[in-house]
Amino acid sequence: MSSSKEKVPAYEEVIADLLRSTTGPVSAKELAEKLLAVRPSQARNPLQAMRQHIRQANGRLLVFLDADTVLSLRLAFQGARFRLPLDREMINKGLVNIVDSLPYYLPLNFPLEQVRFVDSAGKPVAFQIKPVSQQVNTLFGHQDITTLYANLSDWLRAQKVNAKDHLLITILDWEQGVMQLAREPFGQRNQGLLAQRNRLMADLFFDLLESAVDEDIYAHVAVPTIYARLPDKSGYPPGHWMIVLEEDGRMISDGWRIHYSDGGFSPLEQLAREIAGEPQHPAARPVSKEQREQVYRFKAALAYRPNLWREIEVQGKQTLADLDLLLREAFNHDVFDHLGGFWKLIPRGIQGKPGVTKRGAARQARYREVKLGHVEPMGGGEGARIRIAELELAIGDRLKYVYDFGDWIEHHLTLEAIETPQASVKYPREVARNQPEYVYCVECQKKGKQKVAKWICLECTTGPDHEIMLCEKCADRHEEHYLEEILY
Ligand SMILES: [Zn+2]
Ligand SMILES: [Zn+2]
Repeated sequence: MSSSKEKVPAYEEVIADLLRSTTGPVSAKELAEKLLAVRPSQARNPLQAMRQHIRQANGRLLVFLDADTVLSLRLAFQGARFRLPLDREMINKGLVNIVDSLPYYLPLNFPLEQVRFVDSAGKPVAFQIKPVSQQVNTLFGHQDITTLYANLSDWLRAQKVNAKDHLLITILDWEQGVMQLAREPFGQRNQGLLAQRNRLMADLFFDLLESAVDEDIYAHVAVPTIYARLPDKSGYPPGHWMIVLEEDGRMISDGWRIHYSDGGFSPLEQLAREIAGEPQHPAARPVSKEQREQVYRFKAALAYRPNLWREIEVQGKQTLADLDLLLREAFNHDVFDHLGGFWKLIPRGIQGKPGVTKRGAARQARYREVKLGHVEPMGGGEGARIRIAELELAIGDRLKYVYDFGDWIEHHLTLEAIETPQASVKYPREVARNQPEYVYCVECQKKGKQKVAKWICLECTTGPDHEIMLCEKCADRHEEHYLEEILY
């Protein structure tokens, strides 16, 4: 065995040892100091190196309550509660699917045969593990998939469980896999409180996603983190986290990762949707007559030359194809060649949070990009038929438009106003543009004449101090060269 292979678990073992005796949250700094005392380090900044080892244990041994405080996984799950809905079929057969629901609430790779259930009096609930084979349609044909069920028929019968009842589960001992079962009759359910608990849980997941560096988080980190942060995790139980996320709608999970639901599907989700025969693209959103007529005024600017802008207006019933054509014309792009593409820019995380100053927010402003679709010249493309009103934009919202995926000419659009249309005006249209800062033809200047340059010869240009700007006529002598039109 190589020494580098031994090194990684060694740190984990020390961290696990240090956490075993804790009874509550621990400061990450203190834990790093204790780790350093056991395992002296040659690193230039030893404490920082230890903090890195602690970060690597996130979701494996511990979770972060905040940036400086950690809690062992065992304590994060201690007393945590969740619920599973029961349906007629489950009750008739007495079988509860444990493969899809329990592993998230157990240590990694915990053998399901070793799970122990107890009732509210602490007495063991007898059950057998029952493997059930099912034929499943996959892209590779019919496949037999074996799922483990807990046969709880005796207990369910004794409890007189009904179809709309819930199974309440409390984690008594996460390391040993001991869980308490209780029945919540439908009539005793506090629907208002349950909705409130579920919303709180969903908000905690969403906050975690919003503050993540990437645009996804891992379930094995997120679930214990949420329980560690949930006030009163032993109180009225929220739903199983996957059901909570599905009902909330802002996020989507394949059971492994959690990401924004408007960010498209992961390959795994795509596969599941194909097998289930679900559409790959959401259907068009309904738009009212009023929304169809509304005029959206955008300020569009080149991303790398924000002084070069156009103000444009487009109606709600008009499409991204119409907007694409208008932008091509306004910025002198070729209308017959190259693709155009649109994204919605959505602020993430720190922005708009209480306690964050405007300047702080601007400095830390982060956007995620939700792809809306591309538009082919002369129509076509996945985004072409999307109507502006379907984008559900509010004043201040931003879009990104890229013309030509090869040269990647990026534009930022900001929605400045939504107004009622004027009777005599034909939309879409350009309403204003920046004052042009003209540059003049270098050839004509040599002859003492001032003529506005229309082209830049990229072959004769040698640098910013020697840019060959040319008028239409002088450009004729460079016709074999690579000329680019100057935008004003
Ligand atoms: Zn000239
Ligand atoms: Zn030239």
